[in-house]
Amino acid sequence: MSVETILAKKGRDVVTIGADRLLSDAIDLLGSRRIGAAVVTGADGALAGILSERDVLRAVAHRGAAALDDGVAEHMTANVVTCGPSTGIDTLMSLMTEGKFRHLPVIEDGRLAGLVSIGDLVKHRLAEVEAEHQALRDYIATA
Ligand code: AMP
Repeated sequence: MSVETILAKKGRDVVTIGADRLLSDAIDLLGSRRIGAAVVTGADGALAGILSERDVLRAVAHRGAAALDDGVAEHMTANVVTCGPSTGIDTLMSLMTEGKFRHLPVIEDGRLAGLVSIGDLVKHRLAEVEAEHQALRDYIATA
């Protein structure tokens, strides 16, 4: 199983925000889209970073309400760990656990091609476990 399997189900749409936008814009975006992170893009539309609700929390904890007028670029993580469509699910879990983050942008042919969150991984794993249990139940019933 790979990233491709997850993207085939959830789609490839990625919520992005420009690096030159304000933190208050990012909060509006995360709130209205009910998501935990947005991929940050530069002027050329290329991946420039990632901004998660944790970055917002940290910024407000340090600077109070004044942080809302800061640029997204000041608080995003610029060194983004990414994966590809063929990256395996186990690798994704290791990357998230070791990196202590819950979002992984997918890059294909140098372009943003999706985003996998820890919620997607949990959902996928639950479906897998359920399918295994069903197969065992079917096997026992017909044995
Ligand atoms: P998260 O757990 O994804 O909400 O993010 C926790 C922290 O890790 C925040 O500072 C994010 O900017 C950062 N982060 C999130 N995803 C990634 C990623 N794929 N690569 C590097 N840093 C990330």
